[in-house]
Amino acid sequence: MNKNSSNTMALAPNTSNKRETVCIFGTGDFGRALGHKMIQSGYPVVYGSRSTQISNLIPKDAEVLGHTEAAQKASIIIIAIQRQHYNFLTPLAEVLHGKVLVDISNNLKLNQYPESNAEYLAQLLPGSKVVKGFNTVSAWALQSGTLDASRQVFVCGDDVEAKQMVMNIVRALSLTPVDKGSLLAAQEIENYPLQLFPMWKLPIFLSLGLTVFFFLYCLVLDVICTYIYEKNNFAFFIAIAIPNRVCPVVALILLALVYLPGIFAAIIQLYRGTKYRRFPDWLDKWMLCRKQLGLIALAFASLHVVFTLVTPLRAFVSWRTGKGIISQALNNKTEPLNYTNAWISDSYLALGILGYFLFVLLGITSLPSVSNNVNWREFRFVQSKLGYLSLILCTAHTLVYGGKWFLSPSAYKWYLPNIYILSLIVPCAVLVVKFVLIIPCIDKPLVKIRQGWERNPKYSE
Ligand code: NAP
Repeated sequence: MNKNSSNTMALAPNTSNKRETVCIFGTGDFGRALGHKMIQSGYPVVYGSRSTQISNLIPKDAEVLGHTEAAQKASIIIIAIQRQHYNFLTPLAEVLHGKVLVDISNNLKLNQYPESNAEYLAQLLPGSKVVKGFNTVSAWALQSGTLDASRQVFVCGDDVEAKQMVMNIVRALSLTPVDKGSLLAAQEIENYPLQLFPMWKLPIFLSLGLTVFFFLYCLVLDVICTYIYEKNNFAFFIAIAIPNRVCPVVALILLALVYLPGIFAAIIQLYRGTKYRRFPDWLDKWMLCRKQLGLIALAFASLHVVFTLVTPLRAFVSWRTGKGIISQALNNKTEPLNYTNAWISDSYLALGILGYFLFVLLGITSLPSVSNNVNWREFRFVQSKLGYLSLILCTAHTLVYGGKWFLSPSAYKWYLPNIYILSLIVPCAVLVVKFVLIIPCIDKPLVKIRQGWERNPKYSE
């Protein structure tokens, strides 16, 4: 076979790729931006507008006609008009009959109307095939080309063929269509752009709450208590010393909270003897924001790394080191190297470095560009196995740092435990229960349940 023949074929113009004309009702911000992008992608665009006067803002290769004439030229009509003006479409029912109408509208409030805008449009024009789509993309992003943040376009509709046509346009614009099912999903799609960091809310509030709590805790123990009993003014600790205690503590607790819902889920499944019953809502929500919890934990751990690296630059640390050297010189005595301390400090640093390295690896694999390139098993291996290893290393890092000192009475100022002791409660609990769950006599039934086995099957033969 001629090796070049396929190349020749590929280079030959493909006339069947000619795009179908698309009609856009409305020459506002979104209509213009979408039209511009469509023309760039090879679609002939005709606008249906109240005014047929051409303005400089309208893409120059587009035609502008009255609504009826424009609708007659295309089988897909994009309605780039606010919902409150949809009434003007009713007299056009005949010309719009059998056509695909794409509802791109958004609202100003969550669940603003009893039915979604797309369902309302379908009620107004029962002879047309309504598809919801494009509402999660902004006009600015379409026009400026900065669509990296969200290339996904949620699409839903009752007519499968119509939905496919819209999804093909989405793909042609280099966006990614996500089929959300029937028109019933339209309300959810319309609410989506109105939500403010929905998956981040809980992790952000939780991390802020923990940060404030531990900051005040350290302030009381390290600054106020020291001032009252030792008359030392260590208020400058609030700049670096206290944040460098709070950050690792919050990071470790948040990392443990990433794995805690999985533990609860396993216990619930073992107790119920089935995986076919829904988890409680709070657990579902918690599971859904594990990635965000992990990323915030990584941010806190990174801050801890930076604060630790600048420690030798601190005036307080230089003063303390100098004081130690001068006292040895005055006593004319060199302190021998304490090998136990040398082992402890090197070990806790090594554990911290390894734990942080795995933590960064987890963060990197959670990025969509990376996770899209690994299969489900590889993703689970990194997120579960390496994740637990990172939790073990970070917990060990804290334990070794505390060492015997955790048991010393001086670690309990005002009968309060040091924050490092508090930081170990959740991670140690998670690790102990996880260890119990992987004991074969518990792990085996759990694996069976996760493969679909039920202790008391509902539909037994
Ligand atoms: P816009 O700039 O206000 O444009 C709306 C267009 O609707 C007007 O330019 C006008 O076009 C037409 N119109 C206004 N009143 C009308 C009436 N009484 N009867 C018939 N047509 C009328 O709004 P937009 O920002 O383009 O938004 C349009 C739709 O896209 C909205 O539903 C919005 O929720 C949705 N959306 C917008 C964005 C965005 O980033 N802007 C993103 C996603 C979704 P003519 O003068 O040509 O008739």
